[in-house]
Amino acid sequence: MRTSLLASCSRPQDGPLNASKFSGAPFLPSGSKWPACQNCGKPMQLFLQLNPSELPEQVTSPWGEGLLQFFYCTNSEPLCEVDCEAFFPFSKSTLLRIVSAEGKSEAVDSSAVLNGFPPKLIVGWKVDHDLPNWEELRSLGVELTDEESEELSEKGFPRSGEKLLGWPAWVQGVEYPQCPECGSQMRLVFQIDSSGHLPYMFGDVGCGHISQCAIHPSNLAFGWACG
Ligand SMILES: [Zn+2]
Ligand SMILES: [Zn+2]
Repeated sequence: MRTSLLASCSRPQDGPLNASKFSGAPFLPSGSKWPACQNCGKPMQLFLQLNPSELPEQVTSPWGEGLLQFFYCTNSEPLCEVDCEAFFPFSKSTLLRIVSAEGKSEAVDSSAVLNGFPPKLIVGWKVDHDLPNWEELRSLGVELTDEESEELSEKGFPRSGEKLLGWPAWVQGVEYPQCPECGSQMRLVFQIDSSGHLPYMFGDVGCGHISQCAIHPSNLAFGWACG
């Protein structure tokens, strides 16, 4: 049993640059520009920014110090998501990073992003408990009967939606990325579902996961899968 935190409530506004949000304007550290896609060269959408000081007290910044930022290129000409296989971790058309929120942000111009999604400030978290699916339980040495597996999914485990920590709601098999530096299995930090707080569909109702190496925290990955 793990704790997961569901982003339960968002408000249609951008809020401060260092706020926890889906899309909208990111905090840009001194001397940096809005991150561009390495494929098309255009600014990428901010999909997620999390500020550890705004999390419920049950968790202390699971990814370490600083803001967690996730950018994803949604441009269609060229179709970077497909060209760069953005469903696989470490794609050129995505960027994951942890940045210091010290000092002032550089000036931000959201209008530079093509078809930018409306900003959504995260204003509520629901603390919940979470369980892995039957397949992941099997890999952990727990064999469920068919009835038990059915009960698990009927009760909504693993939790769907946008959540911090917990267990991944895998659409296909268990697919944790491996750290490119040490080869160890990366762990879930955040799950992003299709058409939830973000008006975006990963393939055919896919589900995506941000993961991190416990030994090398700057190694972050995002991958998604659909049915
Ligand atoms: Zn691109
Ligand atoms: Zn590592």
